[in-house]
Amino acid sequence: MTATASAATTEAAETAEIAEIAETAEDIPHFGFFELEVLRTRRLGHSFLRITFGGASLAGFRSGGYDQSLSLFLPPAGREHTVLPSTAEDTWFAQWRAMPDEERPVMRSYTVREQRRTPEGVDEVDIDFVLHGDASPASYWAGRAVTGRRIMAIGPMVAENKSVRFQPPAGTDAILMYADETALPAAAAILDRLADGTRVKAWFEVPHEDDRLVLPTLADADITWVVRAGGAGRERTDHLLEVVRAAAIPAAEAPYAWIAGEAATIRAVRRHFVQERGVDRRAVRFTGYWRLGASEEELLAEAYAGRAPSEDPGAAL
Ligand SMILES: Cc1cc2nc3c(=O)[nH]c(=O)nc-3n(C[C@H](O)[C@H](O)[C@H](O)COP(=O)(O)OP(=O)(O)OC[C@H]3O[C@@H](n4cnc5c(N)ncnc54)[C@H](O)[C@@H]3O)c2cc1C
Repeated sequence: MTATASAATTEAAETAEIAEIAETAEDIPHFGFFELEVLRTRRLGHSFLRITFGGASLAGFRSGGYDQSLSLFLPPAGREHTVLPSTAEDTWFAQWRAMPDEERPVMRSYTVREQRRTPEGVDEVDIDFVLHGDASPASYWAGRAVTGRRIMAIGPMVAENKSVRFQPPAGTDAILMYADETALPAAAAILDRLADGTRVKAWFEVPHEDDRLVLPTLADADITWVVRAGGAGRERTDHLLEVVRAAAIPAAEAPYAWIAGEAATIRAVRRHFVQERGVDRRAVRFTGYWRLGASEEELLAEAYAGRAPSEDPGAAL
């Protein structure tokens, strides 16, 4: 099966390499199509809606946890369910792209907040959607999701897959995290899994006071919430950096930084960690989850044209 996790920058670049077969040397497929059915929804905060999905195909779904992402295909406005003309490895992409604009499901990247099997044996997956307005297809769809709606996804079939980006090297002795609201589900899932006592300093930036979710963890986590107070673009990033600069970070020999959120902001935070805090840039994982003013289609188009900014840890600051 073809790996297709799409999204802001790194993931879009991967999608551009759509012909790449994500299989191990032993030919175990890493990703496959799943049909997800909405079981229930729950509002977590002002901006967050949790949608719990089920479906028989989830029996083969294997989240690697942490910031495991997947690609969702959401129906266009006016359609109840997602219909793809093909889910065959060698034809689905061409057929999906050839669909008329008004019928083509949008492909969007999201995070597996949690996968579980209930005591009754039902496989469930939670995805936490940021509701950021009805003008954007995924946000629009999530805001109207009701039980029984079916969508399609490309998701992991093995737990070790390249859509788990949080990979602290052995010997890491402290973790620095920055996430905006789109990456808070991933940050929460990372915190869920960290070992008892892991030292963490985290900054989580959210639009509203009541988006400051309770994040259970065994880690020794010092979390600073940054509630956005108006402003966008440069103004917003500057405010965030002021807060980050003012904070003490754990003294560490080998810190690892995980940064995810709006594309321009994550670059600024990465520069700060490397240039001002002395973190080895190879120990910084940074991923653009969205970019102010650009839809995911526009980011994908950049990636197809080979213009996606690099998120390689070695990339220039
Ligand atoms: C690996 C990965 C994991 C992700 N996980 C999650 C997740 O778990 N939950 C989640 O909510 N998002 C997540 N995202 C981000 C999500 O894919 C983007 O926000 C996506 O653009 C939403 O699609 P849309 O159709 O709503 O907006 P689009 O049609 O893509 O964008 C329309 C407009 O809205 C703007 N926009 C996009 N997102 C936001 C936002 N959050 N706030 C304000 N403006 C925005 C864009 O800049 C654009 O101008 C993830 C992204 C990646 C790459």
